[in-house]
Amino acid sequence: MKKNIITLFLLLSIGFIVSCGSDDDTAEPTDSDGVSTPTAAFDDFNQSAVTISFSGDEITISSNALPNHTSPYWTQNDDLYINPIVASAGGISPGNITESSYTLVVPTAPSLASSSSETGLGAIGLSVTGVPIYNQSEGPTDVTEGTASGFDWAGGHSGPTGYHYHIEARDVGETSPLTIDDDRLLGIMSDGFLIYGRKCNSTGTYPSDGDASNGHTSTTQHSDEAFYHYHIVNEIYLNQYYLLFGVDLQGTPNMIM
Ligand SMILES: [Zn+2]
Ligand SMILES: [Zn+2]
Repeated sequence: MKKNIITLFLLLSIGFIVSCGSDDDTAEPTDSDGVSTPTAAFDDFNQSAVTISFSGDEITISSNALPNHTSPYWTQNDDLYINPIVASAGGISPGNITESSYTLVVPTAPSLASSSSETGLGAIGLSVTGVPIYNQSEGPTDVTEGTASGFDWAGGHSGPTGYHYHIEARDVGETSPLTIDDDRLLGIMSDGFLIYGRKCNSTGTYPSDGDASNGHTSTTQHSDEAFYHYHIVNEIYLNQYYLLFGVDLQGTPNMIM
């Protein structure tokens, strides 16, 4: 009888300790949604144009917007100037590649937002070359076939705010770090999530588990830990191109200034 009482006391004591432990656990942050963006990915950026700095729980990406590849949009006396390869002479937009300044500050561990956000006209991400990523907007309307015919092989052209990309680069034998139907990193979107080419390194092919923004959580060549990232949507745009990002952001957008 006495032994049973001692046992009961011991059990109650253990229960008390366990419940105290549980209370402590629930008091700790439970938001494990944001996995840190793998720092190895930032090695893929054009170091002569892009500066990456890490401070606390923020990453700052700054760019002078000067790409490390050839284009007919360079001024003719520039070493990287080439005659148009894929751009039609009549479609070339006015303006040249000029030095500019873009800065994006994102969390080191971006989280998915409770609702998605539409993107607008202007820079919505920064590519590995340092050139801003645009969606399908071109001024008050969307890109037309006429405008698109002036895109260079890298998928860019000039606008009132400078040189920018709308579509995936095309393989014409020119050298660049840009993705062309592969799993290379395209850049980082304004919500802090990375965007890769149409293929995913985790499977070696086009992802089949993408959400409404063709984002998913998997490993990539930059990390063995799965994290959320986008892929260029593998659908033909304007009969022959691949639009870089015509979908919503699934995180919280930050200003690209
Ligand atoms: Zn444009
Ligand atoms: Zn992927």
